Amino acid sequence: MNIVLFGPPGSGKGTQAARLKERFSLRHVSTGDLLREAVAAQSDLGRKVEGIMASGELVSDDIVLELIKEAAEATKNDAASEGWMLDGFPRTIAQAEGLTALLDAEGDKIDAVVVLEVDRDAVIERLSARRSCPECKAVYSLLVSPPATEGVCDKCRGTLVHREDDRPETIANRLDVYERQTHPILEHLEGRVAIHRIDGTAPVDEVSRAIEAALT
Ligand code: AMP
Repeated sequence: MNIVLFGPPGSGKGTQAARLKERFSLRHVSTGDLLREAVAAQSDLGRKVEGIMASGELVSDDIVLELIKEAAEATKNDAASEGWMLDGFPRTIAQAEGLTALLDAEGDKIDAVVVLEVDRDAVIERLSARRSCPECKAVYSLLVSPPATEGVCDKCRGTLVHREDDRPETIANRLDVYERQTHPILEHLEGRVAIHRIDGTAPVDEVSRAIEAALT
């Protein structure tokens, strides 16, 4: 099964991806994670996209489509998985079209789009309280799931960070970018692929159950 996890920043895509990955044996591809790894490594790509990401704007379609192609190539022969799950991609109509072209060429397709619906105020509250582990990608909420020791990842003991782009001045811009450039993809996909809309404001376990129910 191939799925696209869709929703505004802070809607819980990363949290749900970690669960769905296990539940359905899927390869998880997050363009945000791939780009953050490039920034952390200070590669040519990382230096190019660092400022754009910090401002909450989107990295160019060409760069992101290239990353997706590389990820698809690298995991092509991964026999352990039964499909893939895209998280944070596509984010523009051009990316959606690029993805369709890539899949058509491989004789592959998207089976379902899962949309996590969370309103603007809830996103702002969540992202302001989000702390992330750059090492193992675990995410915490200072409001509902704080780490046992302040600033330290429970899972790998890494140092938690408040992502640069999770700061209040950038969150509003990310939401505007989502509304303007990303949300219209749903209309573009409507009628071509199954779209499941899930209430992303429910507790994490409930959201997982609703997604599983929609996909099975
Ligand atoms: P995320 O972790 O998915 O919220 O992504 C963090 C940032 O990485 C975004 O605000 C963008 O600057 C960049 N980014 C991630 N995925 C994409 C994408 N598909 N297209 C363009 N930029 C992206």
